[in-house]
Amino acid sequence: MIPELFFHDSATRQKQRFVPIDPQHVSIYVCGPTVYDLAHLGNARPVIVFDVLVRLLRRFYPRVTYVRNITDIDDKINDRARESGESIGAITARTTEAFHADMAAVGALPPDAEPRATQTIAGMIAFIERLIAGGHAYAAEGHVLFDTPSFPDYGALSGRTPEDLIAGARVEVAPFKRNPGDFVLWKPSDAETPGWDSPWGRGRPGWHIECSAMSLAQLGPDFDIHGGGHDLLFPHHENERAQSLCAYPGSGFARMWLHNGMLRVNGEKMSKSLGNFLTLRDILARGPWAGEAFRMLVLKTHYRAALDFTDAGLAEARADCDDDYAMLARAPQAGSDRAMIDWALAPLCDDLNTPLTLARLRDLRTVENAVTTGGSPTVGMERMGRHDVPEPGVAAASFREVAAVLGIAQSDPTSWRQGGLEQGGLAPAAIEAAIAARLAARKAKDFAEADRIRAELAEQGVVLEDGAGGTVWRLA
Ligand SMILES: [Zn+2]
Repeated sequence: MIPELFFHDSATRQKQRFVPIDPQHVSIYVCGPTVYDLAHLGNARPVIVFDVLVRLLRRFYPRVTYVRNITDIDDKINDRARESGESIGAITARTTEAFHADMAAVGALPPDAEPRATQTIAGMIAFIERLIAGGHAYAAEGHVLFDTPSFPDYGALSGRTPEDLIAGARVEVAPFKRNPGDFVLWKPSDAETPGWDSPWGRGRPGWHIECSAMSLAQLGPDFDIHGGGHDLLFPHHENERAQSLCAYPGSGFARMWLHNGMLRVNGEKMSKSLGNFLTLRDILARGPWAGEAFRMLVLKTHYRAALDFTDAGLAEARADCDDDYAMLARAPQAGSDRAMIDWALAPLCDDLNTPLTLARLRDLRTVENAVTTGGSPTVGMERMGRHDVPEPGVAAASFREVAAVLGIAQSDPTSWRQGGLEQGGLAPAAIEAAIAARLAARKAKDFAEADRIRAELAEQGVVLEDGAGGTVWRLA
C-alpha cells in the first residue's frame, strides 16, 4: 500500500498531494551541474535532498526514473578554457568525473539517466524549430530568442515578471530583441568558441533550452517532478516551463516543482571574496567519516529552509553518526518492526521532513540502547505510542531500514568506527587492550588505575560504556 505523499509545490506555493501521472512509473528531472569547476557545498545540497526523495519514492512505487543532466555547454566553461589553456573537453571530462566521485562520497546514488547537453544538440535544434513554427520564438542576427509576451502565463511559476529580470540587470540589452525580457535559445559562436551547425548558422544553445530538450528526450513532454535549488526558480525554471509548454501545447510539463533552500557558511553567503568558499573536497579531505557526516548535517535541516554550514555543525553531525553506529554495533540481529518503520518514515511522506524523521530515529536508537543494556525504554516508546517493550535488536533493525531511505548508517558499524579512529591515530586493537587492562584493574580493586585508563581514552575521544554485556566503546 502506498501512503499519501505530500510535497510543497513551488508553482502553487502550497503543499500538494503527490499523484503520479503513471502510478507504475514515477518520473523526476533535476538540474545537474555545469561542469567547469569542483562542486561546492551548495551544489551538494540538491543532490542529497533529491537523492532522499528518489529513495523514498522507490520504496513505494514499482519504478522511478530519475534524470539529472550534465550541462557541458556553457559560457562559464568556455571562459575557464580560455583562462587556463586547458581544452573544453578536458575540463568537462575531469569535472564530471570529480562530480561523480564527490556525490558518491556523500552517499548519493547515480541517476538513472544523465544526459549531456553536447549529446542533445539535434533535440535542441528541433525544439527551437517548433517554437519558431508556433510563433513563440524568432531568429535575429544569428540568435534565436524566445518571445516572452507570446506566453501569457510567463511568470506563473516563480511569481516574477520579465520586468523583474530587467530590474535585476540580468538581461543583456540587445538591439535585435523584440522585448527586453526575451531570452536566448540559440546564439552564434565565433571560430574559437564551440559551435554546431544549425538553420541559424554555426552557434550554440542557451542554458534554459538545454534542460527543456534533455527532459523531453528522457521523460517526454509530461513528467511528475522537477527539482533544483531555489536559485534556479527564476529565470531558469520559469524559462524552461515557458519553452516546454509553448513547444508542446496541451502538455503539462512538470506536474510538481520542488526547490531546496540555499546553503550559507558561518551565516554568510558563500563567496570566494569572503574567504568562506568551500568545495565538497575540502570537507571530504577531513576524513573517511566526512561524507556521511556532511550528509547528516544537510538532512538535519528541512530541505526548504536555509542551511548554515559550520564546523561545529559538522562535528555535531559526526557525533550523531558515531552514536548511530555505536548502537548498531552492539544491537543483536533481529527482524524489523513494521509499525516502528511507518512511524519513523511518516514525516518524510509529509514534505520530506528529514529533521523529524531523524528525531524519530534517535528515539529508536534510545529504545534499542535501553533494551540492549537492560534499561527502561519508556521515553522513546511513549512518543511512539507503544507500551510493549521490543526484543533486543528490533528497534535497531527498524532504524536501519528507515535510515536507508535517508542514505545514512548503512556502513558496517565496525569499519565506521575504525575509519574515525585511524583518523585520530588510535587503532581499535589498542582500545580493546586498554579496556581489558581496565577490567583487570577493576577486578584487582585498583580503581585509580581503572579510572586513569578511562580518562586516557576519553582524552583521545573514546568513550566507554559499561553495560550488562560488558564494556563497549564509542567515539565521543
Ligand atoms: Zn535546468
